[in-house]
Amino acid sequence: MLKFNKPYMTGRELWLISQAHANGHLSGDGAFTKRCHAWLEERTGCAKALLTHSCTAALEMSALLLDLEPGDEVIMPSFTFVSTANAFVLRGAVPVFVDIRPDTLNIDESLIEAAITPRTRAICVVHYAGVGCEMDAILAIAGKHGLAVVEDAAQGIFSTYRGKPLGSIGALGALSFHETKNVISGEGGALLVNDPALAERAEIIREKGTNRSKFFRGQVDKYTWVEVGSSYLPSEILAAFLAAQLDEAEDITRRRLAIWDRYHAWAAPLEARGLLRRPIVPAHCTHNAHMYYLLLPSLEQRTAFIDVLKQRGIGAVFHYIPLHSSPAGQRYGRSSGELPVTDSTSDRLVRLPLWVGLEEHMDEVLDACNAALGA
Ligand SMILES: *Cc1c(COP(=O)(O)O)cnc(C)c1O
Repeated sequence: MLKFNKPYMTGRELWLISQAHANGHLSGDGAFTKRCHAWLEERTGCAKALLTHSCTAALEMSALLLDLEPGDEVIMPSFTFVSTANAFVLRGAVPVFVDIRPDTLNIDESLIEAAITPRTRAICVVHYAGVGCEMDAILAIAGKHGLAVVEDAAQGIFSTYRGKPLGSIGALGALSFHETKNVISGEGGALLVNDPALAERAEIIREKGTNRSKFFRGQVDKYTWVEVGSSYLPSEILAAFLAAQLDEAEDITRRRLAIWDRYHAWAAPLEARGLLRRPIVPAHCTHNAHMYYLLLPSLEQRTAFIDVLKQRGIGAVFHYIPLHSSPAGQRYGRSSGELPVTDSTSDRLVRLPLWVGLEEHMDEVLDACNAALGA
């Protein structure tokens, strides 16, 4: 069976883990964590990068940093992973779901203003497939209404919007290093704090609500409980693993892009024949080949497509069950108007395998795709 996802290892992870072991500092915020923070700050230009144990954790930190209160509303797409909404629901906030653009499948910025109420506090955008949302328009709306912008950039490492790295554009950005993402540590993530006014509290919230980071820097003489917080920092073992991946992140992205380009060239004539639609990347965005998906004409055709690939031993998957139609989404959130693009996309989208090492299997994958499409 050719897997849908296969985590790529650089081969240097265990070596760096052995160094963390030798350093004898295993809890968070040691030398490897600092190295990862420096890497992220340098590459994204954020004011402060903080490793977390997941992107979910980084989003939860964002909700705490925004001081959301029960009944406050956060505008977001419904076509996303559950963590985007969960993080805010944990604070008692209400996710307000807005439809997506038919081209990038990102939140449709032209529908955001209609979703704003006196309770709206923030917009949480999701850069689907590592392709940027229309951030200029979104920041303008947020500025006009006094809303915070959080970027769920779980899929967005190394992608840019008008030259800016995804995750570095809103007040806060959340990255994921889950093993299904481009750069990995099994479970893992980072909060990019772009608004310097939030940096100090971000450190505190991540360290159980204590001023421990300041204490270690010698900036305060007592280490004590100062805020509501939790434990969001990963151990040095995980940071060492991630450091090995970050060292090779450019090469990983380059290799993924080559596979993405091959899918895209293969699918062009099929798109011209009306058999499918390919991903669309706007000219002002660069992407990181996080995902290659196809939009097929109908749910029936997608089901048949996945079945044929499975018979040929190739894993292809679909997502997301829209949050607005999920049991928890209905209980905790609400929709702003109808969400026809979300519903239709959720029925028709299929993700093809994309991982470093797939290169040598591409003929087999594309043959199976051709057979599944009757092409
Ligand atoms: C993967 C993903 C997450 C969750 O990431 P974790 O690191 O597993 O918590 C959140 N949002 C989106 C859009 C994702 O793709």
